[in-house]
Amino acid sequence: MPELLTVEQALERVLEHARPLAIEDVRLEDALGRVIRQPARAVVDLPPFPSSAMDGFAVRAAETPGELPIVFRVAAGGAPPGPLPARASAGIATGGTVPDGADAVVPVEVVEDHGDRLTVPDAARAGQHVRPRGGDVAAGEVVVEPGVMLGPVQIGGLAAAGVASVACSKRPRVAVLATGSELRSPGEELAPGQIYESNRHMIAAVLADSGAEIDVLPVAADDPESHRAALERGLESDVLVTSGGVSMGPHDLVRRVAAELGVEEIFWGVAIKPGKPLAFGVRGDTLVFGLPGNPVSSLVGALIFVRPALLARQGHSHPRPSFLSGRISDSVRRNPHRDEFVRARRLDSTDGARLEPVSGQESHMIVRAASADALVHVPRGAGEIPAGADVRFVPLG
Ligand code: AMP
Ligand code: MG
Repeated sequence: MPELLTVEQALERVLEHARPLAIEDVRLEDALGRVIRQPARAVVDLPPFPSSAMDGFAVRAAETPGELPIVFRVAAGGAPPGPLPARASAGIATGGTVPDGADAVVPVEVVEDHGDRLTVPDAARAGQHVRPRGGDVAAGEVVVEPGVMLGPVQIGGLAAAGVASVACSKRPRVAVLATGSELRSPGEELAPGQIYESNRHMIAAVLADSGAEIDVLPVAADDPESHRAALERGLESDVLVTSGGVSMGPHDLVRRVAAELGVEEIFWGVAIKPGKPLAFGVRGDTLVFGLPGNPVSSLVGALIFVRPALLARQGHSHPRPSFLSGRISDSVRRNPHRDEFVRARRLDSTDGARLEPVSGQESHMIVRAASADALVHVPRGAGEIPAGADVRFVPLG
């Protein structure tokens, strides 16, 4: 195996090759989880008119306290019949348009409403309980910047600002493939030497919130013909993710067959544990990830490299894995050569996240990993990270 790239170097290479896909118009109701590519601008001022923040009475602050006639009442959704005359008040509902001339709303709780006249016991402050026109956003201002994956708050903001559709990245098509003649699906009978296949659905699950359209392909047996057929099909996608068959054994065929199909290998081998023999290549704009078959290696590779690549292909402005910080509960020995991702249980307390490594950290131990909800980054180096030290981690969803 050639000189290993560090995790940062490998990720940099991946992102360099991840070209953004085309842009399409997406209706707001279909836009959750999509990455916006052009600034979305407010269609209207918000609020579109000075509106009342309370149920109460619109007044001129300078004319309070005192008694004022009630000259009309404004409901939400209607316009006032005209400006507020001098020395008068108007009833107003929350969200109603504050009439011209009025500069304050006195809440219903603090006045006496006599039907045709109003007693305001205390002086109102100019501007109180009035939401000025455009106070949230002005028409033409940017509501959401390009590169943002739309979540519930952005969807709400866009709707309020009158935006009906947004220019988003096309969704990347991802093919997920597993290789290995030993693999059977859960529910099938295992013959001697066989195991259950876990990686395809797990990788698809890791990528489920990445905005991609995921196609899970059948398992390919460890012979060149099966590999060729499966890889050819997978290469029609924007991103192909394979698991297994990238190590040094006689049945590790993925890299060789991919090369025969025109995939240019960008790197093979990353200073990461688990997941060292990860291969990455390109054919045209299609990205090809060969993840090692041990399930935890596949999990880590999908989270640390594949998911960022999918975000980058959508023009996301922060495609790299987002790390949180916490404290490790036990000491962890560092690997001198490779950055390690330790599976841990996360216990949140008032002083932040405490991370408790699960027992069984070998790369085949996916069931041990299943009790974890965090991947703790243990940078390569000498000695150990002491119990209680600050660490960074990636949540496991
Ligand atoms: P490989 O990378 O193909 O050498 O596989 C490494 C180890 O992971 C072997 O023990 C395989 O049986 C196992 N393995 C490979 N692919 C899968 C898979 N999709 N699901 C579960 N185990 C796998
Ligand atoms: Mg294999």
